[in-house]
Amino acid sequence: MGHARKTIDPVARFGALRFEDRWDGLPDSLRSRVEPTPLPDAELVDFSPATAEAINLDPAAAADPELPAFLAGQRLPQGAAPTATAYAGHQFGNFVPQLGDGRAISLGQVSDRFGQPWDLQLKGCGRTPYSRWADGRAVLRSTIREHLCSEAMAGLGIPTTRSLGLVVSSERIQRETLEPGAALLRAAPSHIRFGHYEYVFYRQEYELLKPLADYVITQHFPHLRGHRAPYRQWLTEVMELTAWLVAQWQAVGFVHAVLNTDNMSILGLTIDYGPFAFMDAYDPKFTPNHSDPAGRYAYENQPLAAEWNFSRLLQATLPLLSDDPEEAVEIGTHILDRFQPEYQRQYNSQMRAKLGLKTADREDESLMDDLLERMAASGADFTRSFRALCQVSRDGRGDDFFLDEFADRDAASSWLAAYRQRLEAEPADDRARQLEMCRANPAYVLRTHLAQAAIEQATAGDYTEVERLRRLLERPFDEQPDMAGYAALPPDWAQGIELSCSS
Ligand code: AMP
Ligand code: MG
Repeated sequence: MGHARKTIDPVARFGALRFEDRWDGLPDSLRSRVEPTPLPDAELVDFSPATAEAINLDPAAAADPELPAFLAGQRLPQGAAPTATAYAGHQFGNFVPQLGDGRAISLGQVSDRFGQPWDLQLKGCGRTPYSRWADGRAVLRSTIREHLCSEAMAGLGIPTTRSLGLVVSSERIQRETLEPGAALLRAAPSHIRFGHYEYVFYRQEYELLKPLADYVITQHFPHLRGHRAPYRQWLTEVMELTAWLVAQWQAVGFVHAVLNTDNMSILGLTIDYGPFAFMDAYDPKFTPNHSDPAGRYAYENQPLAAEWNFSRLLQATLPLLSDDPEEAVEIGTHILDRFQPEYQRQYNSQMRAKLGLKTADREDESLMDDLLERMAASGADFTRSFRALCQVSRDGRGDDFFLDEFADRDAASSWLAAYRQRLEAEPADDRARQLEMCRANPAYVLRTHLAQAAIEQATAGDYTEVERLRRLLERPFDEQPDMAGYAALPPDWAQGIELSCSS
């Protein structure tokens, strides 16, 4: 077993990454320069060429002998300015004034081919001033889950932070047991969270709110410069992005499971993968997180949790909305009141696509709810049931695939009759509709047991399953030969997998 090297070797360049200092504008009191504590004996587990492309790095970097050292924080690319930022947050409803990047270190920002910024963060490369009592490390288990789910989300077309790749180390990290240490490189246009604004607000550093808002607006909402009410419009757009994100999660049965305000991206990205899961059997009360027995962040609660989180952001940014506190509250309330209708609109449009409906009918919502109720009663698998629905046609061919997913076939069959009736009002022919439905209903999602199998093999030194899963989930809508097992129901042993916040 090696020891963490105390010094970091700078390298001339890594790939063609060119770091720019885009911290300019982010208030000094929100950031600290830090030195990564390298992970010893880093070995590459997996690399995502798709993320490399996204950040304008040649995917051939996968074969760069420097790559493991780069991902382990042992070598810093030229121009990197390692930085950690401070944020606060409401965790399970309770305000925590001091959180921050406790184990994430931004190397700096690069530009992609469109000039769009990407912030590159090492996650698991040591303590920062915001680590509190924790060790600044990440374990292989949670790092594989974050890597795979980031890339799976991107494959589904759902906004997310990305993962360039991960390494495993000889260092053992204490969690419930001793586990292999690991690190990944996370990439996102911005890692700024709702909690950054809460940090400033609760410290009553109101003069920093504008710079912190402008920092994000300048880089990510450039169309708002010169707007007559830029902050109002910005918060409206953040509300829309957040509602849209949750609608997309609901449509694929994704449960984030730790929807604290510090885990809410200001860009509406899925961020901070912890004890998340894609549902197997449909159960609106489902949460995979054993640390959340009350189900605060269960599937059915995500829209409300996100709205509540957004209300915390509004609270923290009220001074931006008007100098007159009463007027600020009035404007903020107006934006907040639009959250649920916006969410509902987005959700309905997602569900309509899942059912292959091009036109809108007043009865559609009850048709959808009815299906979900029957799925819940039958314990039908969420992903498989919707995918099977893609095979249903007007003449009844293909019905069995769908009906077979239900314990109560009669219940499924009577719903199907109503659905077929509804299809009569649709202009598209079966074939066109089926093809489009296959783009809205994935065949493959990152089921908990699939990730678990990849973790167990990787822990034993075999990384091929991580790569296989990553490749599969990059194209979740395409039937892939020889991969049918990955669309199957979870095996019995999957019941025993316990997920917690420990990572
Ligand atoms: P999370 O529950 O993972 O969203 O993390 C909540 C807070 O704890 C964030 O500020 C994290 O940066 C921090 N944190 C979590 N795990 C660690 C760790 N192993 N070392 C340092 N900070 C951590
Ligand atoms: Mg977090």
